Amino acid sequence: MDENPSRLDPIVERFRRTLERGRLATTYLFIGPVGAGKLWFANLLAGRLLCQQADHQAVAACGVCQSCLLLAAGSHPDLLHVAKPADKSSLPIALLIGEKERRGREGLCHDLGLRPAISTRRVAVIEDADAMKEESANCLLKTLEEPPPRSVLLLIAENEARVLPTIRSRSQVVRFPDPASADEPAAANESPQVEEVLNAVRSGLGREPLDPVLLGRALEPLMRAGGSKADDTSSDADAPTTQSAAQASAKKKRASGRDLLRVAVDEVIRLQHAELMRLAARNEHRTPAGDAIYRRLERSMVAAEEVERNANPGTLLQAYLQDLAELA
Ligand SMILES: [Zn+2]
Repeated sequence: MDENPSRLDPIVERFRRTLERGRLATTYLFIGPVGAGKLWFANLLAGRLLCQQADHQAVAACGVCQSCLLLAAGSHPDLLHVAKPADKSSLPIALLIGEKERRGREGLCHDLGLRPAISTRRVAVIEDADAMKEESANCLLKTLEEPPPRSVLLLIAENEARVLPTIRSRSQVVRFPDPASADEPAAANESPQVEEVLNAVRSGLGREPLDPVLLGRALEPLMRAGGSKADDTSSDADAPTTQSAAQASAKKKRASGRDLLRVAVDEVIRLQHAELMRLAARNEHRTPAGDAIYRRLERSMVAAEEVERNANPGTLLQAYLQDLAELA
């Protein structure tokens, strides 16, 4: 993946604001399925952090300085990168703390503590953070507990549950949306219900300030229908034999409560992001209004994850609307 997928815009924007405010954390944990763009973004961010003349307004490197050229050549002395070899089931501990005879004198944990060679900091990208044996995790943990000055660690994992809790708790978790699910609302577009939901979201959220009461009222039918997963329970496998083509087509057009909720959440994210862009264009994104949108974006991304995790759509929507109201 070499282009910025627009579904990652909220993440890019979030980091742009973080960098602009000088609030970068030391350790991030990027969670998401294969193809979600975690490594792509880690490389983008690393390039930006190492760049010698980066634009402070953007999450992008200049592309022409010594750092950027070395990065492009794959030989940047301040970028450390480890990943599980294809033939191994876990991340080898030697990559973190060196081979047996040189333990603690080489490996990522050692190298991260060296003075930056050409950039102002050192960046470590650690793939497969969910495939670490406890011994490796404990070594990394020491580094996370006392990170060397001027170092940034970007951990990447698919399965959050397999990341050692002590590592997770010392990282700022960034969740990447599933690229497969991002396409689904478009596929469900045949449904008139989808149009209704989109209109409802726009009526409550299409303008600032956000009107969560209006939004909630408009989405009421979805809240009622959202608790049921009836449309998901009938198996598609036997559709050809037990359903006529017309029935099958009708079923396809009737999106489930979960599908509709995902459409609603995605639309909230899209509208909030567009509003943030408008504020940024007028240089008003640092205002309280901008902060509120930013917090609602974060809350929306949590909601999007909850939809993915099959949370009860009705309960989810209720809590989501309540939080949006409080953030308005
Ligand atoms: Zn540069």
